[in-house]
Amino acid sequence: MSETIKMPQTHLASLAVAKSYSKGEHKIPVLRGVDFHVRRGEFVSIIGQSGSGKSTLLHLLGLLDSPDVGEVQLYGHRIDDLPARSRDELRNRVFGFIFQFYHLLPELSVLENVLIPVMIRHSLWDFWKHRKAFREQAKELLNKVGLGHRLTHRPSELSGGEMQRAAIARALMGNPEVLLADEPTGNLDAETGAEIMELLSSLNAQNELTIIMVTHDEAIAQLAHRIVRLAEGRLEAWGEAA
Ligand code: ADP
Ligand code: MG
Repeated sequence: MSETIKMPQTHLASLAVAKSYSKGEHKIPVLRGVDFHVRRGEFVSIIGQSGSGKSTLLHLLGLLDSPDVGEVQLYGHRIDDLPARSRDELRNRVFGFIFQFYHLLPELSVLENVLIPVMIRHSLWDFWKHRKAFREQAKELLNKVGLGHRLTHRPSELSGGEMQRAAIARALMGNPEVLLADEPTGNLDAETGAEIMELLSSLNAQNELTIIMVTHDEAIAQLAHRIVRLAEGRLEAWGEAA
């Protein structure tokens, strides 16, 4: 009888945390002890009611906030206790973010918005030196998300779905390992939301982009590989995803 030796598999990202917010003298526990792991290439949905702590969980994972107790790990190494500068760099290199309200800069064109991550990452001189290559890369990404015909438009000239596509291109410009999506279809009608989900699913399938998506919409959540649910500050496995 042959025995299979199971190698311990390191998760791409893990989190085991508790987090409260202070309101006056009161401490309000949001995450009471949450354990979450994601493997490379997974597409995971986190569902839960409004106020259940979904955004908080995503912010902790993406180093936008710090846990009170516990830790956040990347490839098995703790990252939440690194010096601020290292955390900024990791956030910029490892994580891409998209949000319900897109957070595009209104005074910049679509193409310029997509260039923001490389402008942040590089010195002014390096950015200037490589600007042509960066612009080409940004255009390619905008083509990929179906916005190749909107390069010089301002965000205010785009539909909601187009704004989210621009935000996705911007997130991809940083070449992230993990895309953190906070209610990415929350402000879109059902049809446009489905199109954005199709785009996310194809990025996951074709580029092995790991995606962690927060949503309160179960039908949207079903499109991921796995669903977890946040309730009363804890995380539980939820139903069967596609
Ligand atoms: P969700 O994204 O599931 O709607 P959130 O993570 O945004 O939930 O918020 C969870 C709870 O934490 C809410 O009660 C919210 O009011 C509170 N909260 C979130 N961020 C802060 C903050 N920066 N300061 C104080 N309370 C906060
Ligand atoms: Mg939220």
